[in-house]
Amino acid sequence: MDYPKVILKSGKDQSVRRYHPWIFSGAIKKIIGNVNEGDLVFVTDNKDEFLALGHYQIGSIAVRIISFEEIEINDSFWKEKISKAYNFRKEFGLAENENTNVYRLVHAEGDGLPGLIIDFYNGTAVLQMHSIGMYLNREHIINALKELYGDKLKAVYDKSENTIPFKSDIEAKNGYIYGESSEKTVVEYGNKFKINWEDGQKTGFFIDQRESRKLLAEYSKDKSVLNVFGYTGGFSVYAMQGGAKLVHSVDSSKKAIDLTNENIDLNFEDTSRHEAFAVDAFEYLNDIKDKYDIIILDPPAFAKHQNVLHNALQGYKRLNIKAIENIKLGGLIFTFSCSQVVSKENFRKTLFTAAANTGRNVRILHQISQPIDHAVNLYHPESEYLKGLVVYVE
Ligand code: SAH
Repeated sequence: MDYPKVILKSGKDQSVRRYHPWIFSGAIKKIIGNVNEGDLVFVTDNKDEFLALGHYQIGSIAVRIISFEEIEINDSFWKEKISKAYNFRKEFGLAENENTNVYRLVHAEGDGLPGLIIDFYNGTAVLQMHSIGMYLNREHIINALKELYGDKLKAVYDKSENTIPFKSDIEAKNGYIYGESSEKTVVEYGNKFKINWEDGQKTGFFIDQRESRKLLAEYSKDKSVLNVFGYTGGFSVYAMQGGAKLVHSVDSSKKAIDLTNENIDLNFEDTSRHEAFAVDAFEYLNDIKDKYDIIILDPPAFAKHQNVLHNALQGYKRLNIKAIENIKLGGLIFTFSCSQVVSKENFRKTLFTAAANTGRNVRILHQISQPIDHAVNLYHPESEYLKGLVVYVE
């Protein structure tokens, strides 16, 4: 195989030998051969021993590893990787399930494919590529998807415009790269949602909260529920389906509120139990004393970088103080953080500080992490981002 060779400095092979899928630029001793962004490269230690194959990119993460074995990277490589990801979901009841036709098919490093996200929405695969190497392999990826799904694949939508590094000369544009689909309704545990992958956040839906929504439904019977940062109204639909007597959805975006109402209409004939408000969460929470039995706090990532971690934690604290202070006696709070830089420990400490501020008794009923289609690669702790706690407040 005649790939450019990336030779690591002495000692810098340790993390690759422990299957960490990234090579930082500082670990590289030299590169032999002419290498362009997105090229496949051969990674060796400083004694020329093979370590891995990966995609090269300019930046602090210089190589994203796609194989720790010395194999041919061709059409069958992509087909095998993607069907492996599919079979894993199938084994755990996600793919080929009438009640749930929305799931993450490929979760980047979690599935051994750094830089590639594929979300499946009832016939449409939405691709989000974070590396140039993945972007250049779109044809292989489409071929693999077509073979895997056959007639069930109606369209492939590429949503990489804002995720490919802006300095590359690729100029990725969002759009269909195979077929086109007008079917925008999916089902999740039997609940219907209209998804807008063209304009929506992420690939259109927060698929990673599926199990938390299901858990909420189990607690909602006869309760008054407040869903803060509701976006598509996912939690609200589940609370309604679980028999809540009242559900309020709050999001600062008017578009999100419209989408929430649309999703409620899609699932229920009588929607009088539900009301949605386009207002700021922090303001809304000032005036909720003893109004709700259950409060969901699922804000956007307050910190995208380590340097704003402190402010982010303050944000989570303020938010949770308001909820803990005002929830009814014996109420439940479903509180989340999807900031990757906020660790599980940090989030829990923040909740501790918030609770202590209010003087109320708080017990943890559930600790939530990522669902199986977003499973964390043990060798890549960076892929853990979602944390949640369900707490009981007295
Ligand atoms: N809980 C949602 C995902 C939340 S995404 C789900 O399960 O699908 C975060 C949402 O928070 C976005 O819809 C965004 O519009 C909203 N948001 C951001 N800042 C806000 C604020 N200050 N007040 C209210 N909503 C806000």
